[in-house]
Amino acid sequence: MRLDDNLDASYTELPESFYTKMSPNPVREPQMVKWNEKLANQLGIEREGVLDFLAGNSFPTGAQPIAQAYAGHQFGNFTMLGDGRATLLGEWQNRSGQKVDIQLKGAGRTPYSRGGDGRAALGPMLREYLISEAMHGLHIPTTRSLAVVSTGEPVYRETELPGAVLTRIASSHIRVGTFEYARRFCTETDLIALTDYSINRHYPELSGQPDKYVRFFQAVVERQAELLAKWVSVGFIHGVMNTDNMTISGETIDYGPCAFLDAYKPMTVFSSIDIQGRYAYSNQPPIAAWNLARFAEALLPLFDEVPAKAVKQAEDILREFPQVYRKSWLDIMYSKIGITDAKEGDETLVEDLLGWMEQAGADYTNTFRTLTIDETAALEQMEGFGSWKKRWEARIGADGMEAAHDLMHQFNPNLIPRNHLVEEALDAAGNGDYTLFDRLCELLSNPFQYEQVDSKYTEDPPEPKEPFQTFCGT
Ligand code: AMP
Ligand code: MG
Ligand code: MG
Repeated sequence: MRLDDNLDASYTELPESFYTKMSPNPVREPQMVKWNEKLANQLGIEREGVLDFLAGNSFPTGAQPIAQAYAGHQFGNFTMLGDGRATLLGEWQNRSGQKVDIQLKGAGRTPYSRGGDGRAALGPMLREYLISEAMHGLHIPTTRSLAVVSTGEPVYRETELPGAVLTRIASSHIRVGTFEYARRFCTETDLIALTDYSINRHYPELSGQPDKYVRFFQAVVERQAELLAKWVSVGFIHGVMNTDNMTISGETIDYGPCAFLDAYKPMTVFSSIDIQGRYAYSNQPPIAAWNLARFAEALLPLFDEVPAKAVKQAEDILREFPQVYRKSWLDIMYSKIGITDAKEGDETLVEDLLGWMEQAGADYTNTFRTLTIDETAALEQMEGFGSWKKRWEARIGADGMEAAHDLMHQFNPNLIPRNHLVEEALDAAGNGDYTLFDRLCELLSNPFQYEQVDSKYTEDPPEPKEPFQTFCGT
């Protein structure tokens, strides 16, 4: 189907304070540099004729594009934000009848741009494309990437860089920060409108319930706890878990300075601006809980009318977060070592493997990978691994080994978007050669495939000359 035939604008039925209508911000010379054929097919979007729409040069007929208003806590501090460089083209009805947002990231200035230029550089948009699609390949809820269009215009950062627009697909772009905005700057009627809209769109099963607002909060808490367990289980570090970068749908969003762990070091921080390590790998679950407490504060007027009771409702649910997180995380970790019927002692088995990785400086992904394909000779050279492996083998038992390995194949990726591979692919793409980028995208679309993958993509990374750093690249 053509993009212009099928776009809705249900968000514009919310009070006007939640958005601003946009007009096109044309770019000089748009070129499609990446098109996600598989996703386009899934969504049923035709490629023919989309270039000008995805560049923001013209809007599809019938579309009512907007920039969304939101606020958020950035590194702990509350501030007004909003789509400073994104335009929501509209909502596309996918084949199963669900609505997904089609958003252009880097589409020019909006009323929420503050000092920014509203634009994005090609490298970071390709990076978001690659990593978000890799997350999807890893079965982690995430926004998707449909296309990257280069603009033929420069953007000015520390240096002059080629500009680009990313087309992002999301089940919505409603964030914890959207609720903080409603609570702080809008009326209670507006807050109710946003909450009812979010319930209808993401948790429709709650819509008729008398305590739907409390249940909505609880449902978001649970989804986020499950999401965080998935991130941690693959070694993902988001890097900038501000409340404006946390969705109500439970999808991962806003791939800026994110990166994956190589060696298992729980306090790993890659982002150059995260000086305190607020968003370090192992801090992510408690930070998610902190963000959800900000969400609760925004929703409090919709809970029990007795304020003390409303606070108690919020606290009781927030208290569940660590348990839901821990259970989800353990379930995944058990699968990663081939255990389906967890029993006493298994938790220690998991913890001891992680403890061993940490003290040995072992690679996180490859420890599980080599265990999956039973090629642990190199690990056994390292002190302590052999004795852990004996315990593990005794736990699984000779009869259980085949089933265990089958399960491990489904949970332990053969490859992840490793920093050195991502950098290499982006460097080449920056010079106009997309071979490595396309190949990496292709492999990462099915990271659980172990056959026919060049060892370059799976071996331990080279020892970095200096610690790897990411930038809130823009
Ligand atoms: P992010 O770090 O991508 O989550 O963005 C934080 C806030 O900064 C959001 O409100 C963005 O819309 C805004 N922002 C980021 N880059 C730009 C830019 N180049 N121009 C205008 N606003 C921007
Ligand atoms: Mg408005
Ligand atoms: Mg953001």
